[in-house]
Amino acid sequence: GGGGGGVTQTGTSDPLTGLADRPEFMRVGVQRSEHGPPEAQVGLILADLHRFSTINHAVGFAAGDALLRDTAGRLVAVAPGALVARLGPDEFGVLVEGLDVAHVAEIAAEIQAECGRAFGAMDASLASLSLVTIGIATARCEEGVAVLLERAETALGAAKGRGGMCVETFDPTRHGAIVERKGLELELFGAGARGELRLHHQPIVDLNTSAVVGFEALVRWDRPGHGLIPPGSFIEAAEECGAIVALGEWVLEDACRQALVWNQPRSTSPSIMMSVNVSACQLRSPRFVDSVATILAAVGIEPQVILLEITETALNTDTDAMVDALGDLKDLGVLLAIDDFGTGYSSLSQLRRLPVDVVKIDRAFVSGVASDSEEWAMAVAIVNMATSLGKRTLAEGIETAAQLAHLRSLGCELGQGFLFSPPRPADEAWQSLEPGRGPDPCGAGLSQNAHRSETT
Ligand code: C2E
Ligand code: CA
Ligand code: CA
Repeated sequence: GGGGGGVTQTGTSDPLTGLADRPEFMRVGVQRSEHGPPEAQVGLILADLHRFSTINHAVGFAAGDALLRDTAGRLVAVAPGALVARLGPDEFGVLVEGLDVAHVAEIAAEIQAECGRAFGAMDASLASLSLVTIGIATARCEEGVAVLLERAETALGAAKGRGGMCVETFDPTRHGAIVERKGLELELFGAGARGELRLHHQPIVDLNTSAVVGFEALVRWDRPGHGLIPPGSFIEAAEECGAIVALGEWVLEDACRQALVWNQPRSTSPSIMMSVNVSACQLRSPRFVDSVATILAAVGIEPQVILLEITETALNTDTDAMVDALGDLKDLGVLLAIDDFGTGYSSLSQLRRLPVDVVKIDRAFVSGVASDSEEWAMAVAIVNMATSLGKRTLAEGIETAAQLAHLRSLGCELGQGFLFSPPRPADEAWQSLEPGRGPDPCGAGLSQNAHRSETT
């Protein structure tokens, strides 16, 4: 071979460098891991030439080839007894045996230093082009070379993710998280169609009368093998992989159907509002407004009982487009709320521009409300500001009677929280409101009677 540098290669080899090629690497790797004691360690260093394709085009293929041959020689020189292979166009593997991860890391550091030295054959100005990005991993012989390679590739990916020219060691927790996340994303698509999504409903209460005026629909996922998992564990993933669009449509449709059921026998009483969370991703989709219109029409629900909640942070990016989308939603006749208000640094002028009906005060301010803190000052400011702009105010996360009393005195109109009820499946949420049926959990005076007597 060419630059094989004393390594005996019995099988196929890479013609350019004379190193083992990928099939040969796998063959030898399998052989060695099978013959080694099951518990013995094998280590793999993957070295990737930093930005090789750019360099190859800049300096020409002949110089690029020289760089690859030179790198091969340096790897063999640093790790003389090891199996060195060319695994990809500009990716090299060094298989070492019987070393713990600290020793493997030492060799990796030597490789990096060696490759950082100027190449004699090349223009001095190109000296720094030989820099490598390195991923390292170890495995037990019994785990096999395929597992080892996969781990080292994960580590290399992490090193590239950090900008390259560095060494990363395989982190089993990170790898586990990646595999888990991929599985989760795959399963999220179609979770609604497979009947795995559930809505829980939390009552929204008129703080002056304690009457229930509506419910917020909060999604849960009955994920096979995992039980009922909360939205905090999957909404973000759904947003990143795009599954949120279908998921959001399922939520809206289910919530609308529930709202229809709850409003039908009570046509003479004030209607029960249904509040539904909308993610920024949904709002950005050009199809969103149409999909809302389609769902409302298909279910046959009056738009004015539906309150769509959009988080304040969602409205901060690309505000003009968001304001347009909100305007289109208002034209459908639905109500709009700005969720988690106070966390996203909206200015007064921004709030004025937004065609929202309800401002939901974030739980962070509500929890400090009874303790005369800065949070209380924020809550006062938000209620006053929202009220003066003609918006309704809704305080989230009310847990104590003291918080309730303070919010009442402030003139905050609506509220929800564990003091009244946690989110519950539809039947239970409704039963707790019916007089004589189901317990009133916190003694906060939730009852259908209150609703009827106080609001008529
Ligand atoms: P959020 O919209 O701010 O919903 C309120 C969260 O606070 C809910 O958590 C609720 O269970 C919880 N909560 C209610 N009262 C209290 C209280 O008194 N004290 C405390 N400590 N917590 C209270 P959940 O159901 O886990 O939902 C978390 C978040 O997930 C929601 O925050 C919302 O941003 C998101 N989410 C839920 N359902 C959906 C959905 O259908 N679509 C989208 N895009 N997001 C959703
Ligand atoms: Ca919400
Ligand atoms: Ca909220």
